[in-house]
Amino acid sequence: TLPVFLHFFIFRAKTPTSLPTFLVIGPSGSGKTSLVTLFEKGAPSPTHLSQSPLSVRVSLPSTTKAASSKYRSENDPTLKLEKPLLLVDTPGHGKLRHFGLEHLNATPNLKGIIYVVDAASIPSSSTGSSSESGLADAAEYLHDILLVLQKRYTTAKSSKGPKDVPVLIAANKLDLFTALPAPLLKTSLEKEISRVRETRAKGLLTAGSGDADADDRGWLGEGGESKFEFRQMEEVNVPVQVVGGNVLGSEGPDVDKWWDWIGSKL
Ligand code: GDP
Repeated sequence: TLPVFLHFFIFRAKTPTSLPTFLVIGPSGSGKTSLVTLFEKGAPSPTHLSQSPLSVRVSLPSTTKAASSKYRSENDPTLKLEKPLLLVDTPGHGKLRHFGLEHLNATPNLKGIIYVVDAASIPSSSTGSSSESGLADAAEYLHDILLVLQKRYTTAKSSKGPKDVPVLIAANKLDLFTALPAPLLKTSLEKEISRVRETRAKGLLTAGSGDADADDRGWLGEGGESKFEFRQMEEVNVPVQVVGGNVLGSEGPDVDKWWDWIGSKL
């Protein structure tokens, strides 16, 4: 029979390690399923209304460099190796949203979150009201996700805190001329999240939890009067980036910058 240490070694070696995983989250209709399909098949295809999370194995395109390969020479054969990863498509429909939030804490090897927003559903701040557009919805869901990530940090046992969970806000549908460019979408979301934060705090106070501390109230970002900015999330190991693109469109997809972001996390 094998010595005990060899048993241990073989058992350990056989334990499957999970692939680097990215969650694809966002309001319904923002283009999550289209994006996952495009990344998987290289071409968009008709989508269906998803009812349960769907995991899809995809590979980094050979034109995108992974961060771990940054210092390899162009002739290094390992550069040609496939870089597989998992995309988990989560449903965006109101009642099904808890899937997304539950996944945040239960995903092994979570490398990041891709939050897809329909940038054409959001008016620039000078026109239109948030309640009529997708802005309120997109901001509320994003607020809740960032709050889960913040709590993960503030309740962590180790002094270093949990590892980074970077968030990519994919400003999708930029092929449409009504779409808000990424920098404006960023400001609109920050403003609206500030509003969500305040509404939530008031709601809890009137519900009679006057003595709740900041964490129980679930105040996102820095306290006090300052307005919410994504930059504040870096304090809790959650770097947020807003990057524009489109999955569909008459001139074809434009998703290279999203791939670059994914590659930079591998
Ligand atoms: P999901 O609910 O987030 O999974 O969204 P879907 O992937 O089902 O997409 C919702 C709708 O938006 C579909 O009709 C897509 O064809 C459309 N769509 C997705 N991405 C784009 C895009 O980049 N540009 C345009 N014009 N339409 C898009």
